Amino acid sequence: MNRGWHFYQNPGPTNIPERVLRAMDRGNIDFTGAAFKAIAEECFAGLKRVFKTDRTILAYPATGHGAWEAALVNLFSPGDKVLVLESGFFSLNWGLRGAAFGLEVETLPNDWRTAIEPGKLEDWLRDDREHAIKAVLAVHCETSTGVVNDIAALRRAIDAARHPALFLVDTISSLASMDFRMDEWGVDVVVAGSQKGLMLPTGMAFTAASSRALAASAEAKLPRVYWDWRRLIEGSSQSFWNGTAPVHLFYGLQEALRMLEEEGLDQVFARHHRLAEATRRAVQAWRRNDGPEIFASDPRARSDSVTAVLMPEGHNADALRQLCLDRFNVSLGGGLDRLRGRVMRIGHLGDLNEPTILGAIAAVEMALELGGVPHGRGGVQAAMEYLVSDAVIG
Ligand code: PLP
Repeated sequence: MNRGWHFYQNPGPTNIPERVLRAMDRGNIDFTGAAFKAIAEECFAGLKRVFKTDRTILAYPATGHGAWEAALVNLFSPGDKVLVLESGFFSLNWGLRGAAFGLEVETLPNDWRTAIEPGKLEDWLRDDREHAIKAVLAVHCETSTGVVNDIAALRRAIDAARHPALFLVDTISSLASMDFRMDEWGVDVVVAGSQKGLMLPTGMAFTAASSRALAASAEAKLPRVYWDWRRLIEGSSQSFWNGTAPVHLFYGLQEALRMLEEEGLDQVFARHHRLAEATRRAVQAWRRNDGPEIFASDPRARSDSVTAVLMPEGHNADALRQLCLDRFNVSLGGGLDRLRGRVMRIGHLGDLNEPTILGAIAAVEMALELGGVPHGRGGVQAAMEYLVSDAVIG
């Protein structure tokens, strides 16, 4: 059934606002010329405000996987040891890519339902007396589980262990949806993508690098050409790109950054929190009668950009998602890896407001009823009550 508005509630890519679509609806310009340079400069200045950094930001036509790879090949040499903080599918995948490049990958194991405990990281690093670990790799918001890690606390743990490892953070599903502070939190490398909080089409990826990271990249021995930060920073005879610049994504980025600044970043984060909490209230209502539950078990570590919902035993999340799509034109994210069929993921990031999330929740609640999944009723009501409560309205 594809009548009416397509509710696209995946946790990325996200809805592209009309303003961004219209901004991209124009012809090409020379990416080596002054007009594009002015747009790019405005975009990089705006990105620095979103990353909360004064450091270097680099962009590539790529997805997040490309920015992951760029960070690895620019920072390390074959045999270097890195520590992956396990949070779910994405954290482990970043590590697998490191292993494919010949890095020695250690994994700090963690239950996928809770945030990484900073104390465990501190202990792990204290045990590394020789300082063999070159970098700690963490995911801010683990999109596969809806668990968010406390990046500032993890930084404090690295400092408490007096360990020199670089700190690399994936902000692919948190940037521009949840507060992130690269410089204040002492992050050396930030990996981000265009298609989530930045509300753009998929296809551009970003890396911000501290001066320590840039110094490490001068020593790194892994082969790199397309991803080489030095080529991007120094520029070639033509431009600061390793190829043709994605001009249309920059048209869109310029508009998206203007939208974020018009609303105000703090208001953007508050909106994401409000809509995430409304979603959580709905799931908590469904939880009665042994219904679905929020996968992230610790309320303090629940993401404001995505809620993973664990289905009751014997009920398939993909069947429920299909019902939502077929009957109500609502698209939700599926479970990844070991969570396939067990969780559905409701994305609440990017360009959305109260009616959007209420519509999506209503569709899920109807699908639970139609699909014969045990649940408590009144999820939509609970979300509405929260959205007009004193906690929200003041
Ligand atoms: N890291 C996280 C946390 C993600 O959510 C994703 C994609 O959803 C990725 C990495 C991979 O990014 P991409 O799909 O843009 O390559």
